[in-house]
Amino acid sequence: MINLSVYKYSSISFLEMVVQSKKKGRNENIPYYKDRIKLLVPFLEKSYQKYDAAFIVGRLCDLSAVSNINLNEKEDLLKLYNYSSKPFINLKNALISLPNNRELNTCQYCTINDVNTLDHIMPKENFPEFVVHPKNLIPVCSQCNSFKSNKWLKNGNFEFLNLYLHILPIQQFLFVNVNYSNSTFDIKFFLKNKNGIDSVFFNIIENHYNNLKLLERFNSKSNEIVSEFENSIAGSLTKLSLEDALECSKATIDLERIRLGFNHYENVLKLELCKGEAFRQYFNLKGYK
Ligand SMILES: [Zn+2]
Repeated sequence: MINLSVYKYSSISFLEMVVQSKKKGRNENIPYYKDRIKLLVPFLEKSYQKYDAAFIVGRLCDLSAVSNINLNEKEDLLKLYNYSSKPFINLKNALISLPNNRELNTCQYCTINDVNTLDHIMPKENFPEFVVHPKNLIPVCSQCNSFKSNKWLKNGNFEFLNLYLHILPIQQFLFVNVNYSNSTFDIKFFLKNKNGIDSVFFNIIENHYNNLKLLERFNSKSNEIVSEFENSIAGSLTKLSLEDALECSKATIDLERIRLGFNHYENVLKLELCKGEAFRQYFNLKGYK
């Protein structure tokens, strides 16, 4: 999991681009949707200024839902968002691009699936005025998006990490227990604040992982990762001793941390396999020392 770069252009000009992209339908009743939404633009601009001001100081939690939107207006606002339309595809592409013309097309909420939608950080049902605010949109996978649903704050605490605003710690908070017995690996991921992360922040991490069922999702991917890693180690055992092969892999994992973040579940698991007893037992039983 890594922090993502924030949309760098004006949020109001993105809104204008979205409004501009709407067409007047031939069979539409008057007043046209495009004309109705244009009437809401001054209100949206004011809301955007409030969002941007709160974003700069990292206080989105201070924004309260506006009460003066009627149901028809809410419906019109929600219709502004359409993931498959050009402004949103362009936005998604901008948000997943990294320096050196690289892309990170993996959902950073889970680091498992490919990105295939945008999540509304502040839920669009409760905050329809921010339905197309580019800093309120984050590229994710549809599985995370459906687990997240309309959750946002609970008793004043964030239910999810905001990957634009919450700077991810370099301390390890995701761990894994690996045991090898009866020819099978038993693998269980867990969260623990062993390295002094601020307790309020660690609570947000726990909420994020629990709400998105990440530990279960990591556990169910773990056999696949072990098999792949087992093959890569076995490949190097033609030239290297088991200890040297594990040392080399540790060095690779260290480099991967820069690219994928310090608590990427695959790296956490591979590192535990390199350091712990389970993998050694498995290879020793196969005759490697
Ligand atoms: Zn995801």
